[in-house]
Amino acid sequence: MSVRVRFAPSPTGFVHVGGLRTALYNYLFAKVHGGTYLLRIEDTDQERFVEGAIENMLISLNWAGIHHTEGVVLDEQGQVTEAGAKGPYIQSQRLDIYRSHIEPLLASGHAYRCFCSKERLEAVREKERLEKGTPRYDGHCRHLNSEEAEARARAGESHVIRLMLPENTDIQFDDLVRGNVSMNTDDLDDQVLIKSDGFPTYHFAVVVDDHLMEITHVIRGEEWLASTPKHVYLNQVMGWKTPTYVHLPNILNTDRKKLSKRHGDVSAEDFRRKGYLPEALVNFLALVGWSPEDNKELFTLEELEEAFSIDRVSKSGGVFDIKKLNWMSAHYMREASLDRLTDLAIPHLTSAGFMSEQEAIEKKEWVSHLVEVLRDNLHYLEELPEKAAVFFNDTIDVEAGEAAEWWESEDLEALRPVLIKTVEELDSLEQSDIKQAFKAIQKETGLKGPRFFKPVRVALTGNVHGPDLMLVMKVLGKETILKRLTV
Ligand code: GLU
Repeated sequence: MSVRVRFAPSPTGFVHVGGLRTALYNYLFAKVHGGTYLLRIEDTDQERFVEGAIENMLISLNWAGIHHTEGVVLDEQGQVTEAGAKGPYIQSQRLDIYRSHIEPLLASGHAYRCFCSKERLEAVREKERLEKGTPRYDGHCRHLNSEEAEARARAGESHVIRLMLPENTDIQFDDLVRGNVSMNTDDLDDQVLIKSDGFPTYHFAVVVDDHLMEITHVIRGEEWLASTPKHVYLNQVMGWKTPTYVHLPNILNTDRKKLSKRHGDVSAEDFRRKGYLPEALVNFLALVGWSPEDNKELFTLEELEEAFSIDRVSKSGGVFDIKKLNWMSAHYMREASLDRLTDLAIPHLTSAGFMSEQEAIEKKEWVSHLVEVLRDNLHYLEELPEKAAVFFNDTIDVEAGEAAEWWESEDLEALRPVLIKTVEELDSLEQSDIKQAFKAIQKETGLKGPRFFKPVRVALTGNVHGPDLMLVMKVLGKETILKRLTV
């Protein structure tokens, strides 16, 4: 049977980096096995539904290059639509399907109607928590006469439908990351399967859908591990083959606590907006929880599609080390084509107020020179405006310390008139021309090495350090260079 896996986000906002990694591992697993990776939307909790969330999640996944051809997709106009033969792929559109699957469970006594009020449930939970440490349902409605219960339901009395777990029974399954997992039903709750609003809970819908969509491997976050015995049991009483489970380790921050919004950027969208390249985020996330056989760290998506294997996913949490992401991202900044980087850089320059969109279009070649000069010093494009400011401002700020000393130096005083004269005479600012001009000035003034390069750089940029001086001059242009030299 061919492998079928799914990413099943709830539409509650943007894709969290943990979700993006789950999607990525599902995608890679499907690729490695020549299988299918589909996307299902789990929106059974209508209260948590966020308008636009589905679109946002699909945009982030497309941005990351984690493409699926089955399930919920965006059409060419950016509208949410579906592809594939096993739909609908949005759970709120499958209510009839869940209803038809709960009936046999009620009939066989594997599920029961529970009429307990909210107040009663709260009181029971509090009592159980105090007495036994874990808040659980006490099974009050387990033994209701089923005909009586049906009659109450027909009369419109509000209720939920719960799974009837057997007493004191071990439920076991083999997880490809965790190994054999076993849990006793005495430690589990009679899970609600259908809520009082008629919607299924996640737990019921996920089992029904994974079966009907012929999912062979359920690859998801560790937070679902404790619920899996209930899913396994449900599959058993339905008479279905249980899928193979794979629970991925949590993503932790550098303090080894679960990564959350409090730690800053956590959604794929945050990183996209900051101007990280998707290939950097994908490469980085691939290694948060998985490691290749060798020590290789830089992987393209295509390389990951070859190298990935579930047996090298670790049990313990993977650390989200932003320093490592930035290191990788800087690598991809250097690798990217200048054209692509320029297009991505423009919005950062316009939103910083350096130029209008129109100017950016007109001066695109110049912008690409600017990006070429600065790309080696960037981790992500949001850093560009600060580094680019020196190319836009009319005046320069001379940095205190060494730069200020060179600014006041006799060397610079001697260099200025010669530099002005030479630059005025230059026809072009191509590297070879500047190189020749520099040689002539060095000969004429006798100032060489740092005594030449440092004061010139300070005069032009206000700093002692920075990108290649000849490239800086090309980007500044003759007019600005002369303006800066004439003080
Ligand atoms: N809807 C669940 C979530 O958003 C998916 C859990 C699963 O993959 O089974 O985390």
